[in-house]
Amino acid sequence: MSVRPYRHIERRPSRQVMVGPVAVGGGAPISVQSMTNTLTSDPKATIDQIRTLEEAGVDIVRVSCPDVESTAALKAIVRAATVPIVADIHFHHQRAIEAAQAGAACLRFNPGNIGSKERVREVVKAAKDHGCSMRIGVNAGSLDKHLLEKYGEPCPEAMVESALEHIKHLEDEDFHQIKISVKASDVFLAVAAYRGLAKACDYPLHLGITEAGGFLGGTVKSAIGIGQLLWEGIGDTIRVSLSADPVEEVRVGFEILKSLDLRHRGVRIVACPTCARQGFDVIKVVAELEKRLAHIAQPVSLSIIGCVVNGPGEARETDVGITGGGQGAHMVYVAGQADHKIDEERMIAHVVELVEAKAAQMAKTKKEG
Ligand code: SF4
Repeated sequence: MSVRPYRHIERRPSRQVMVGPVAVGGGAPISVQSMTNTLTSDPKATIDQIRTLEEAGVDIVRVSCPDVESTAALKAIVRAATVPIVADIHFHHQRAIEAAQAGAACLRFNPGNIGSKERVREVVKAAKDHGCSMRIGVNAGSLDKHLLEKYGEPCPEAMVESALEHIKHLEDEDFHQIKISVKASDVFLAVAAYRGLAKACDYPLHLGITEAGGFLGGTVKSAIGIGQLLWEGIGDTIRVSLSADPVEEVRVGFEILKSLDLRHRGVRIVACPTCARQGFDVIKVVAELEKRLAHIAQPVSLSIIGCVVNGPGEARETDVGITGGGQGAHMVYVAGQADHKIDEERMIAHVVELVEAKAAQMAKTKKEG
């Protein structure tokens, strides 16, 4: 479907950096990140949460390392995780060195914040020795004092200047495995800052609307901010920040990428909003199918439509489709074609079977190809 010209997104060319085995930038698929909210010093709780994120399809997980107990636990966490781990460090360069030694794939670290050139050099050496990349994370809420004095308030220009200053600290040490974020909780500010940064450098960009809010508000805000940038071709990895279960951040991240046809993971459900014409309870069926199909990683498309007004048209574009019909008999579409009828009672189990079969077939084709 992406060959249709109006669906095409021209991505900003960027360098490629590695976060462990995951490539970021340089045309690599846009990765989805999240962050644990357990105590990193409690490796069991942290590993358990990382498992749930892995099951949701996360590509990269960040953990905070505020103290030596956290970096001490990091080794076990890195070993247990199947995805690369980013260590989030603020101020203490020693924590960054410990995290690199413990096997973190990337350090989220702002070199301008640690005081001396010598300390930056030590962190860069540890990163080089242990194959870590780094993420510079500029945040509108914690801009350097001299930039706030210069610009008077957090603004896109100040955020870009801050990012370029941090970049220079690393480039001066001949370090280029860098990705950058310029986050703000204000969508206008964040989008303008990312646009400015996208022009000012060719490093890959980590997108996020920080402190976006609770599940609903934060999802909408992130979809607007991250979605707008991705649509313009800006962005190489994303993290949706929600005051909610981190698994929701991963789910929302993939939904944003799916909506823009940038990456597909899991079942994409097309469903109608329902009205008096519906032949079955669409809302109930969709809610149940979302739960029952959450384990599917393959990009199967599914249409669940209440009646013939839009059902056949949507079914033509999806792998599996249901259109509500009269007298409790609903049409099942396979590969866009009307195939057979089913009653409401057996519908959910039947759709799950059809989608699982399609996913298995896709996985097999992928393996063989
Ligand atoms: Fe109503 Fe049919 Fe449209 Fe669904 S597809 S909203 S049931 S008219």
